[in-house]
Amino acid sequence: MVTLAAGERLARARALAAAVPDPEIPVVTLADLGILRSVEEEDGRVVVVLTPTYTGCPATQVIADDVRRALSDAGIADADVRLTLTPPWTTDWISADGRRKLREYGIAPPGGDAPAGSAVLRFVPRTRPAAAVESIDCPRCGSSDVERLSQYGSTPCKALYRCVACREPFDYFKPY
Ligand SMILES: [Zn+2]
Repeated sequence: MVTLAAGERLARARALAAAVPDPEIPVVTLADLGILRSVEEEDGRVVVVLTPTYTGCPATQVIADDVRRALSDAGIADADVRLTLTPPWTTDWISADGRRKLREYGIAPPGGDAPAGSAVLRFVPRTRPAAAVESIDCPRCGSSDVERLSQYGSTPCKALYRCVACREPFDYFKPY
C-alpha cells in the first residue's frame, strides 16, 4: 500500500469516486449523473456522500459497494460511504457530459439542460417549471418525432420510446 499525504489522498479519493461507473449505464460515471455529493475527510477517514437517483433503486447498494471497492483497491481502505436523500436527486444534476454520453449510448437524456462545463461536485438544486414541456429527441437520428411505447423501459427509471423517423426504439431517461 502506498502512503499518501492527506491532501493527496483526498484528491485521489475524489477522482476515484467520481470515476465509478453507474452499474446500470456503465458509460456514465457517478460524477456525470450528479450522484456524488461530496468526498471529505473526517478524523483521518475518507467520507463519501452519495445521493441515490431513484428512491428504492436497487442499484444504490451496488453503487456504494463499488465506491468502497474503488477506494480500497487504491489503498484507501477505510472509506465511509453515506447516503443522503435531502435534497433529493433530480435529473437536472446530470452533467452536460453525462447527457452527451447517454445520447451516444442510445438513451435520450432527460430534458432540462445542465449548464455547460458544470463542476463535478456542483450542488445547485433547481426547481423545474411545472409547465415545462419535455422535448425528447431520438438519440440515433435526432428526430423529435417520437412516440411513447411504454411508461417503463429497461428499468423503472426509464420509459420506452420509438422514433417515428427511423423506427428505432430507445430508452428515455425520465426526468425526476
Ligand atoms: Zn430516429
